[in-house]
Amino acid sequence: MNVPLFERAAILGFGLIGSSLARALSENGLVGEIVCGDASQVACDAVIELGLASRATTDLADAVHDADLVVFAVPVGAYAAVGHAIAHNLKAGAIVTDVGSVKESVVQSLQPLLPDYVQLVPGHPLAGTENSGPRSGFAGLFSGRWCVLTPVPGTDPAAIARIRALWEACGSKVEEMDPAHHDRTLAITSHLPHLIAYTIVHTATELEQDMQAEVIKFSASGFRDFTRLAASDPVMWRDIFLSNREGVLEMLQRFTEDLTNLQKAIRRGDGDILHETFTRTRAVRRGIIDARQAEPEALKTGAPRAAS
Ligand code: NAP
Repeated sequence: MNVPLFERAAILGFGLIGSSLARALSENGLVGEIVCGDASQVACDAVIELGLASRATTDLADAVHDADLVVFAVPVGAYAAVGHAIAHNLKAGAIVTDVGSVKESVVQSLQPLLPDYVQLVPGHPLAGTENSGPRSGFAGLFSGRWCVLTPVPGTDPAAIARIRALWEACGSKVEEMDPAHHDRTLAITSHLPHLIAYTIVHTATELEQDMQAEVIKFSASGFRDFTRLAASDPVMWRDIFLSNREGVLEMLQRFTEDLTNLQKAIRRGDGDILHETFTRTRAVRRGIIDARQAEPEALKTGAPRAAS
């Protein structure tokens, strides 16, 4: 068991990520006490029933009272409202961090709201599933996964070191990055794949009735894997696309150009281009397995953990 890094952690938003972090912090003895702040009374009741926090409240300002660690784990579109609600009640010396999937807009919306006697260390664990809510979390979610920290210049290095230590103790590998670079990277590795999945599944729902039945029946031939991504939380993903507009639009433009090239190759019967492209993409999959960011079995089960 570790020596606690913080006396009291307030986790705001106790869904998949917030509750997984709470479980990991408790299991590893990293905090003295956990307080839950969540807009949903149903979530608060579940948190107490599951024994994930000593206290759960829908009053977020009350939740952060006397906390030396405050974690934003709400959808990124709610950051400004939550920041306004809690700023006046933050303890001097507290560290505020987050788990949001977008970083530049989050830093921009949160930084101006926080008093200068707290430190902001934004973060993003690259781990997740398509499930939501406090019952869906599990302590091992972050194990072996990356967590990206995007501290702004001028942040106390000791605060960054404490947040790094927290994620490492939860089993994550930690890397620091500029917020804009994070958003561009995640636009291609996470946001665009989800957009494509949402589109394919939406297209299938628009097909005529008899085709729809066959889409479900024969889904294991590829469609099923897209449905897992497309089952991800609508509020969370709406907020991600609106918050990382530039990054997603840039990658979407590149994707559209490449798709048009493949479309041309198919029309012209140019098998060489198709074969060359598919050979290169197959090597990417092998590289991900070698980097231990996917299990070879996942190829068979189609059930890898996503990173949003
Ligand atoms: P989730 O399971 O839907 O949980 C979010 C929780 O926050 C819900 O209980 C929700 O209550 C509550 N909430 C929403 N707005 C709130 C507000 N204004 N004030 C207080 N509580 C509020 O979401 P999640 O998947 O854990 O995602 C949380 C954050 O983690 C997001 O910023 C997301 O970008 C990031 N993230 C997600 C993943 C992933 O794969 N899911 C991975 C990495 C990072 P209601 O149910 O009543 O709305």
